[in-house]
Amino acid sequence: MGSVKEKLLWLLLSSHCDYCGKLLEEGKNLCEECEKELPRITGKRCRRCGAGRDRCSCRGRKVQYDAVISPFYYEKGIKECIRRLKFKGRDYAARVLARDMYLCFLEEYKDIDFDFITYVPFSAAQKISRLYNQSELLAQRLSELTSIPCEDVMVKLFDTGSQHSTGRKLRRGNVFGVYDVKEKASVESKTILLVDDVRTTGATLSECAAILKIRGAGAVYCITAAVTAAQKTPGIDKS
Ligand SMILES: [Zn+2]
Ligand SMILES: [Zn+2]
Repeated sequence: MGSVKEKLLWLLLSSHCDYCGKLLEEGKNLCEECEKELPRITGKRCRRCGAGRDRCSCRGRKVQYDAVISPFYYEKGIKECIRRLKFKGRDYAARVLARDMYLCFLEEYKDIDFDFITYVPFSAAQKISRLYNQSELLAQRLSELTSIPCEDVMVKLFDTGSQHSTGRKLRRGNVFGVYDVKEKASVESKTILLVDDVRTTGATLSECAAILKIRGAGAVYCITAAVTAAQKTPGIDKS
């Protein structure tokens, strides 16, 4: 470690839990709680919802992406970590989460020949109010770790929930139309890794994958920092 600036930075970072941000004794980077029970997804995963098989509740639901994987459930310290990533502009939260996403990538996607990484985009209004896109931060960090280029290919045309979007959806007669591929971007026959922060219902990832495929993408695999999932189903063993 070289400069004073670097040492100060190291001290600042190491005095907080990497995940939940709790203050720690010097030299530690995980609080007791996170060390004991980070909500990691273990065992075989459901490729449709990303949860472990014992916590999957999506059976039979159709999605437009080829698979989704994630290192964590959106619970405990991870919830706080993602909150810090989203609202406090904490790039180190992106680094910590991207590191776990990368390990998950190596487990599940390492044999897939990806052309590029992209991310769920912000709308113009979100870009103004939020300063930076947390999914883009994760995608960039993941790009550094995997050496797969990160490309900005998608646009969000409007925010869901606004009257405008509802009207437009109705006019189009389907749920597509919130997202699109940038005019000059080429996704033709590409194998794409799509990044988002949290998979909740899967609707966003599915819509993005659908439009990427309509525009010619060959395959769309998703990765998120966390997924929400049902509590354990009694009687179903971990497998
Ligand atoms: Zn913690
Ligand atoms: Zn599932």
